[in-house]
Amino acid sequence: MDFSTLPMGSIILADDYLHPMIRKAMAASKQGSLGIRITDISAFLTSYYYKKAPSRYQVLFTIYQQVQQLDKKDFPTYRNILCSKDFLEECYQLLNELSFWGIDSSSLPKQSASQKELFTILQLFKDVVFPKQLLRLACEQIKKKDLSNVYIIDTYNDIAKNQIIKQFLQQGAKLSSFPKEEQEIAFYHAVNKRQEIEACAQHILNHSLDAQDIHITLCDASYPKLIEQIFQRYHIPYTLFQQETSSQLPKQFLALLNYVFDPCKEQLLACLDSELFTGGNIHALREYMQLFEVDLFDNFHHLETMEDSGNLMNIYTLKQLQELENKAAEAQAELLPFFTQLNQNMQITNKVELIVNELNKHIHTDEDRSIYRKITTILYEIGDVVQTKNDLHFLASFFENIQGSKKQPSYQGVLIHNHKQEVLPRKYHYVLGATQTNYPAFQTKKGIFDEAYYALIKGYPSMEERYAHYMEQMNQILTHSKYLILSYPVGSYEGKSMEAALEIEQYAQKPSQPYPLHENYAELRLQDTLSADMAKQLFLKNGCLHGSISSFERYVKCPFSYFLRYGLSLKEPFQPGFPDAYAGTLFHYILESLTNAYGKEYSEQSSKQLRKIVDKELAHLTQIFPSMELALMNVKERLLISMTQTLEVLQEFEAHSQFSPTASELEFHYDLPLQENVTIALHGFIDRLDTYQDFACILDYKSSIKTLSETDIFAALQLQLLTYAMVVHQQQQKEIMGAYYISLKNETIPCPAGKLTRKKPVTYNEYVKEDYMLMKQKAQRFNGWTMQKQVDTLDDNATHIVGLRINKEEEVKAGKLYNLEAISSYMKQLYEILASRILNGDIACTPLEHACDYCSYQPICRFKGFYADKKRLVEPHDDLYWDGGEQDA
Ligand code: SF4
Repeated sequence: MDFSTLPMGSIILADDYLHPMIRKAMAASKQGSLGIRITDISAFLTSYYYKKAPSRYQVLFTIYQQVQQLDKKDFPTYRNILCSKDFLEECYQLLNELSFWGIDSSSLPKQSASQKELFTILQLFKDVVFPKQLLRLACEQIKKKDLSNVYIIDTYNDIAKNQIIKQFLQQGAKLSSFPKEEQEIAFYHAVNKRQEIEACAQHILNHSLDAQDIHITLCDASYPKLIEQIFQRYHIPYTLFQQETSSQLPKQFLALLNYVFDPCKEQLLACLDSELFTGGNIHALREYMQLFEVDLFDNFHHLETMEDSGNLMNIYTLKQLQELENKAAEAQAELLPFFTQLNQNMQITNKVELIVNELNKHIHTDEDRSIYRKITTILYEIGDVVQTKNDLHFLASFFENIQGSKKQPSYQGVLIHNHKQEVLPRKYHYVLGATQTNYPAFQTKKGIFDEAYYALIKGYPSMEERYAHYMEQMNQILTHSKYLILSYPVGSYEGKSMEAALEIEQYAQKPSQPYPLHENYAELRLQDTLSADMAKQLFLKNGCLHGSISSFERYVKCPFSYFLRYGLSLKEPFQPGFPDAYAGTLFHYILESLTNAYGKEYSEQSSKQLRKIVDKELAHLTQIFPSMELALMNVKERLLISMTQTLEVLQEFEAHSQFSPTASELEFHYDLPLQENVTIALHGFIDRLDTYQDFACILDYKSSIKTLSETDIFAALQLQLLTYAMVVHQQQQKEIMGAYYISLKNETIPCPAGKLTRKKPVTYNEYVKEDYMLMKQKAQRFNGWTMQKQVDTLDDNATHIVGLRINKEEEVKAGKLYNLEAISSYMKQLYEILASRILNGDIACTPLEHACDYCSYQPICRFKGFYADKKRLVEPHDDLYWDGGEQDA
């Protein structure tokens, strides 16, 4: 269309999205746009026949209230959805559509029972004025008017709009159609949509096309975000028509509205989650409320004066909780005025007003502003009548789907639009995503009012008529560019195959070719390594690699988790109440207290004594977590039972051992010089050290049965016990009798009824109490390595330590006797290897099996690969055993 020839007083009718393009074209002409009006058909008609239809929200809410009064028994088919917004919305859309064609609701089908039900409901709308009805009335109003000054830009029109255009043409208006071009058509396919867009971008660049000559039709609604990413990467200028934008505002509004109707803690937490309140301490408030199960209106000071955290929780954690409380109190002070006001006894409309005012304070972007306007418009129209929770629920459905739209102020570069938008012709037209699912995307009537229902309505265009009109429009859109490049993806990301739309294949009249795509993907290898320099800076302090033995074991299980914990010092999340680890801490503490106070007689202490210690420790926790009092009491009773049983086992051991507890939680520091001026500085606590004459025995409490395995030791996964043995031997000048794990868990003992002997004649022996006691004792034996022949001083009947037996000479013997000197040498080699790997920056995310089971860093590393194999770092020789070999031991 030549805009320069339009006389003054002309009116151009075109869809909104075309206006900036038309203005730009007119500005480029000599005449400009002086004296010419650009508008769309609806606005043009409204200017001649102004009457406002009630908003959709008003209508739906009014009908919703009427429907509630209906007797549901009269609607056996639709009674469950009568009051739903979706159902009423479908009714509204049907009647709005029919109103344009002048079809009265009284003529709707009512033959079958379900049609009769629908008919009754649709009659509730009979006095409603619909927007499309007003368009029809406006057309009638101006039927005799001369429209010879009107120019209609012929782009995609639905069948109703086409009807209006036909009338305008009869009244003298002119249709400005774009010329059909002699076309060159290319037809491509790509592996998936990402590659299709990449190929399109490369096609544009490889042919040095001017972005101003190109427009792109996206048939698939999921393409816009992707095309933006890719075009930005290729630096291709573009304009995406009317992007939909989203905002948190509707969610925030609904959260507050829900709180008004149900002012409980859960709804309040939902308000905090909606991120409406963004003060720095809101997260602390949320965490505090959940941790201590308090409400916003409670007192937030119960930790303030607390100084002693007991022996289970360390004082550092208490300090952190106190800090959390202070922050939460600050956030509470900020929010209390608003929520107190919201809880006052006042009308709902006033509360809604309060909420809207609060929302207004949190508007930051244009999108927020446009959505805020939509919210206030709906409230203005129906807010006054919302009184009940059900009303609120119905109202909420309007807010859930509110979306903003961002209009582009001007169009630059490649124009990107959907398949129903037609732009002023450009030389190159790319059509992307033209699969059978997405093109031509003719919408048949679905839902309650489907095509079968519409077919019964007299005066409404049939499906054949609508389809023929739609396809004519779709084909027309393809004809205006000199070069048409059609494409589609042959598969989805999930591997589902897709086919080209038949209409596109017919239009192209040739099979598709692979879309040329230059791929240059460098393989992305994530290398979790640090430079040796950086590793040294991170892990070495004054030439020392400090650490506990468990930190080195952690490194072996997963170097990356070691880096996060000891390199970046990431603390693991705090667990409230009585986390599993506290049971072990409490057992350790009880045994430490008892052995310190009573020496070898510690295991004979009464349950009263035990209860006293446990009561005191759990009282501290109850003070910190008052809401968990009942749960903690329950934990206490279970712990006491378990502890009593463990003490019985230990009492039995003490009766057969000449060793006595000498130290508990024995702190040690041990320096292990390595090469290159580096020293490993080990620090730790030995659970228990028992001594007899010149001998020492290392005991380590575990929360479950654990065996000391050679494979794990030489893979550096069990360094603890043997390092303790080495340290005690050197620092206390004692011979080490052995190092053992003691399980604090009351093992599950099988309870068979009896046993069949294998020897002939086969006999059956019923189990008696002694058999069960024997099994129990066997299950609770200490597990570890024995290093001295005089082991009878530790277990005189060989029933308390795994691997001991009594030989024919009635002597207690160990199955294997280990050599501490050799062990110490192997331990040093292991530490040397680990230190070298750490200081060379090997922090690979290569966990061993089960390393991730309880690891809190999963959200950071997101490991989803295969576990690494456990490998021995050092190969032991026969010198590991006394007397030259395992068999001789
Ligand atoms: S989750 Fe697994 S891979 Fe990730 S840091 Fe923890 S142990 Fe390592």
